[in-house]
Amino acid sequence: MERRHFLRQAGTTLAVASTAGLAACAGPRVESRPTTTGGTFSLPLIRASTDRITGIYVCTRPYRAEGPRIETQKLGKKTVVHNYGHGGSGWSLSWGSGTLALQMVQATGAKELGVIGCGAIGLTTALLAQRAGLSVRIYAKALPPDVFSMRASGLWTPDSRICDATHAPALADRWEMMTRISYARYQSLLGLPGKPVEWIDGYSLSDAPFGKFHGDVPDEPEYGEFGDRVRDLTPRPVELSPGNHPFPEPYVRRYTTLMFNISSYASYLMNEYRAAGGKIEIREFEHPEQLQQLPEHTLVNATGYGARALFNDESVIPVRGQTARLIPQPEITYGLRAQDISVVPRSDGIMVQVIGDTGNFNNADITPHREASEAAVRELADVMAKMKRA
Ligand SMILES: Cc1cc2nc3c(=O)[nH]c(=O)nc-3n(C[C@H](O)[C@H](O)[C@H](O)COP(=O)(O)OP(=O)(O)OC[C@H]3O[C@@H](n4cnc5c(N)ncnc54)[C@H](O)[C@@H]3O)c2cc1C
Repeated sequence: MERRHFLRQAGTTLAVASTAGLAACAGPRVESRPTTTGGTFSLPLIRASTDRITGIYVCTRPYRAEGPRIETQKLGKKTVVHNYGHGGSGWSLSWGSGTLALQMVQATGAKELGVIGCGAIGLTTALLAQRAGLSVRIYAKALPPDVFSMRASGLWTPDSRICDATHAPALADRWEMMTRISYARYQSLLGLPGKPVEWIDGYSLSDAPFGKFHGDVPDEPEYGEFGDRVRDLTPRPVELSPGNHPFPEPYVRRYTTLMFNISSYASYLMNEYRAAGGKIEIREFEHPEQLQQLPEHTLVNATGYGARALFNDESVIPVRGQTARLIPQPEITYGLRAQDISVVPRSDGIMVQVIGDTGNFNNADITPHREASEAAVRELADVMAKMKRA
């Protein structure tokens, strides 16, 4: 693939993964004023080398063409409120999605709730239910850090692989409600010890102008795009003129986004849940009939990709994603989006994600491909080597 064309494609992937990125489509501001006092803009360097990779993680996004399944189902003696299928947006939408699920739970009059699953969705739904006065028990075959949610990149991406374009109009209002509820909740999680949630700046690099993006990865569907509906929530990206950034690329855009330090954030959620008296039982269900044995009459099904097997729901499509984690560098507080990598400066490690690659849609293989992550880290090293120093 021609380099320029490829860069555009990588850019589209990024744009779809970020509401902030989409907001830029409508006309980014161009910042011409110098960004430093000494005349030379510099950023601390990421020590990008393959021997600093501490782990390579693969997980499957639980994607559904029609969007997340949040609805009530009567199943024998139980009422099951489904809350799964959040694609690449599970962390971002969790509080809003959990709020919708809780309303359905409350409609049953339940005072005791069983939540199946302890990922981003199960944990937040459980916490919301506790705060509404319910007694909650989580049942899950695995807990953090051994759940897929822990392998996410950790950015505010509420419209990443959340539905396909055909189903977008039907989902739009509900999506916006979930997004706004989640966003508001995240503002209350800023400034806490361990920084579970932070605002960060990052830089998108391209050798071609940033245009109107459509988010195409060649072998993936056209996804629903909702960024325009919540443009008021996040700052618009700013195009930086040469001299106002340290990168060799002619087109550089600074974006500002929320970041989740997932280790710290998951630990915060678990502690909050336990401190409020939440119970946890490690248990794997193979058939929905096994749910009939549970003492709670009302259950939330937050099994993510696990819902495909448990509820025989083939509408849940695995979309594979891989990240590598580099040894943390506290001085690195900026993100990066370059050719075919996205970098997230988390406190538990600098995440380097391969983006724009094919072969991930409907691919449940979670075997890490080390060579792909090493190539991504080498690409990051190349960006660092070409950065201007103060
Ligand atoms: C590479 C990558 C990057 C991502 N980056 C982001 C991002 O930056 N921002 C964002 O918002 N989202 C991101 N996502 C998406 C996000 O990770 C998912 O949407 C989210 O993790 C889904 O959470 P969940 O709680 O539904 O599922 P999970 O985390 O998979 O949790 C499911 C829970 O159910 C349990 N379970 C499953 N089956 C059973 C069973 N049969 N019996 C008992 N228990 C069961 C599991 O043990 C687990 O506890 C990313 C995804 C990938 C792959």
